[in-house]
Amino acid sequence: MKRRDLIKYLSVAPVVGAVGAGIPFLSANAAVTTAAKRDLIKELGLRTFINAAGTYTTHTASLMHPDVLEAINSSSTHFMMINDIQDKVGEKIAAICKAEAAMVTSGCWSALVLGTAGILTGTDLKKIAQLPNLDGFEKTEMIVQKAHNVAYVHAPTNTGIKVVEVETAEDLEKAISSKTAMMWFLNLATNDGKIKHAEWLAIAKKHQIPTMVDIAADIPPVENLWKFNEMGFDLVCVSGGKAIRGPQSAGILMGKADLIKAARLNAPPNGNNIGRGMKVNKEEVLGMYAALDHYVKLDHAREWKDWESRVAVIETAVKNVAGVTTTVTVPPIANHNPLLNIAWDTAKIKMSSDDLQLALRNGNPSIEIMKFTPNSINITVFMLQPGEDKIVAKRVQEELSRVS
Ligand SMILES: *Cc1c(COP(=O)(O)O)cnc(C)c1O
Repeated sequence: MKRRDLIKYLSVAPVVGAVGAGIPFLSANAAVTTAAKRDLIKELGLRTFINAAGTYTTHTASLMHPDVLEAINSSSTHFMMINDIQDKVGEKIAAICKAEAAMVTSGCWSALVLGTAGILTGTDLKKIAQLPNLDGFEKTEMIVQKAHNVAYVHAPTNTGIKVVEVETAEDLEKAISSKTAMMWFLNLATNDGKIKHAEWLAIAKKHQIPTMVDIAADIPPVENLWKFNEMGFDLVCVSGGKAIRGPQSAGILMGKADLIKAARLNAPPNGNNIGRGMKVNKEEVLGMYAALDHYVKLDHAREWKDWESRVAVIETAVKNVAGVTTTVTVPPIANHNPLLNIAWDTAKIKMSSDDLQLALRNGNPSIEIMKFTPNSINITVFMLQPGEDKIVAKRVQEELSRVS
């Protein structure tokens, strides 16, 4: 490339992405474009969309409230000791959630790993350095109900702990031995398991076995933030970046003070340990606290009404299309908010849910929903921004009408 051509190329290169993203390129004057604030979304040609799918990791889950961004921005220009921040924020979070102690982790997943590590090692630095190798450990097993033994169990087993499956309370009593390190409960699977919280906890207490509960996506309701601590679980793990709208790479581990202390020793800044790759810095820790503080002070009843009215806007619009039926349900445990299912008669509307998903994704603005069956989709409204319900209503109605 000749020098003159290179200069010309460099002066327009940053806006190539903008053209690709459908933004008209009006001026060839580089001075005008460089004065503009840098916009990486345009520069890299990233697709943004209306999130009618829910708090999925693939979709970047949730948008942080301005209070959270403020906590991140204002802390990012200062140095602090990470242990000081975890101490202070831990105290505040514990007070809000009625726990003895708390720490900020890099998501609920990391809370599950670090909490389990803490249970296995206590404050023994030699044991901490050894994980996930449990040679020589007396307690190496965790008991899990069969119905709870699903994908998320991979988080605690990162520590090397082995799963012992049980179904009934009788099985549980038999499975408890000198090797039992903990009893793990997946709240999401409560209704599928034979043993419920109270019985699980009573048996654990009787044998003095530590208990952990995964309630990652089980806020709302807000009360769940303290309900499981009050019930008597020794460790409670929550996602920070789902409905609480904290940093997507943050979560909370809370519970008994000695276990939180042990969990913290398994994570930065305490050496090369199993948690070394689960680092949270001041931005995540303070951002998590700001998000939680903001979340608990919300008018939750008003929020719920808001979600219901968004669902009503979309439902009313799509019900007009012949062959469409709608159902509203509320998932009882995880993602507890009104969920709209839109189904259609394929004899009248020759479209699959794959087709509809693609049409909405490729439309303008782009919209993400979740496919449910070959002829139905699910819409979750709690991550919509004000006014987006009307856009979703119009677009879904348009697409379903096009082919009927
Ligand atoms: C989302 C989720 C996790 C993982 O949480 P992150 O905050 O994404 O790390 C763990 N368990 C359950 C049940 C979840 O829904």
